[in-house]
Amino acid sequence: MHNKEAKSLDLIIKVAERCNIACTYCYFFFGGDDSHKHHPPYLTADAASEIEAFLERVTADGAVENLMIYFHGGEPMMAPKPIIGRIARAASQLAETGKVAEVGLSMQTNGMLVNEAWIRFCTEHGIGVGVSLDGDKAANDLHRIDKNRRGTYDRAVQGFRRLSGGNDNGVDLKPGLLSVIDPQGDGAARLDHFVDQIGAERMNFLSPDGGHDKDIGQAQIAGIENFMLGVFRAWVRRADGNLRVRFIKDVLDTLLSDEGARTCTASAQRMSRILTVSSDGMLSAEDTARTLDARFRDIGHVRDFDHVAQIFSTPALAEMQHAALTAPEACQSCPWWGACRGGTFTNRYSARDGFDNPSVYCDALKGFFEEVTAWLVRGGIPIEDIERRLILSGSFPGAVHGPDYTDHKKVHLRASA
Ligand code: SF4
Repeated sequence: MHNKEAKSLDLIIKVAERCNIACTYCYFFFGGDDSHKHHPPYLTADAASEIEAFLERVTADGAVENLMIYFHGGEPMMAPKPIIGRIARAASQLAETGKVAEVGLSMQTNGMLVNEAWIRFCTEHGIGVGVSLDGDKAANDLHRIDKNRRGTYDRAVQGFRRLSGGNDNGVDLKPGLLSVIDPQGDGAARLDHFVDQIGAERMNFLSPDGGHDKDIGQAQIAGIENFMLGVFRAWVRRADGNLRVRFIKDVLDTLLSDEGARTCTASAQRMSRILTVSSDGMLSAEDTARTLDARFRDIGHVRDFDHVAQIFSTPALAEMQHAALTAPEACQSCPWWGACRGGTFTNRYSARDGFDNPSVYCDALKGFFEEVTAWLVRGGIPIEDIERRLILSGSFPGAVHGPDYTDHKKVHLRASA
């Protein structure tokens, strides 16, 4: 099977290592990795030149078919536009000249600095935009606060609306919303708010960072499950084919077609091929994984690498590649491995066992998968097809060892969905 995701490269480029607000849960500033204090506040012109040359080198041998660039921070809209524009143009040219089959450009912002100039800029360069928001004003302003401890909801929503067509030229960039799950929150209410009050059509909800070295109790895990089920039930109730919730779509894609099941495998591999580039041009592992341990940071400067394979054979990234292809021992008899992959890297991690753990939110994930599957079966999808697809997506070329499905329990259906 040709697997284009095995030839993907995703770069999170830290165009700004400063932020205009101070969210209480921010992994970048408050997650234990203080390297931002020693980095230039914004991506330097020298680093931008080195990144352009790096992109030329690592794509010259056809090793990258699919390139995704995320302009990230801190707050990326604090960075100078010309520097971002240079990298956006360099990446787009790789697609135009056929060196890379597909190039995607994206920016994740807190929405506070969105103005006409940024809308023109993102439109001209084909940069998709996502806005971070954690629910209605009360929920969002619990954690997403500025440096004067004021809530950011009103300004973030204003930014989202500007991006959605509320600007001088009526350009609709169709921004997405990105939200962190609140174990005490109401998932259904949050989805309804995003759709009915904000007008969003694309969104995702992320599990909170944290792995086995943090004290995450059963109440928090149950809260995560309730939140996910709330989002799912509200999504089902709305029966709106245009409403895309990423974490639901990922599971449905896996369970509804054999091709989708194969792609789920590819997506898991892609997760381990995400790199972060600091404002000085240093490469690290995926952004949240950088906070796990110093070995995932500063694996080398972009100028040090000529080939993608060199990067992924460094010890830290080889460890993450291995983890992406290897079921933790506790997941090896789990029927949901094909859809779950043990959760995110950070939710799997412990200092003692590395990534050889199930997600800290394992029980919540199982509850979610059970309810989605029960809903599909009630809708007429044969359980045998779902089980076959879980096997298909769970065992794949290159797997170090996948789960043993030969004696696994039947997928357990939740009676009351
Ligand atoms: S549901 Fe739990 S045991 Fe199953 S694959 Fe996910 S983390 Fe592992």
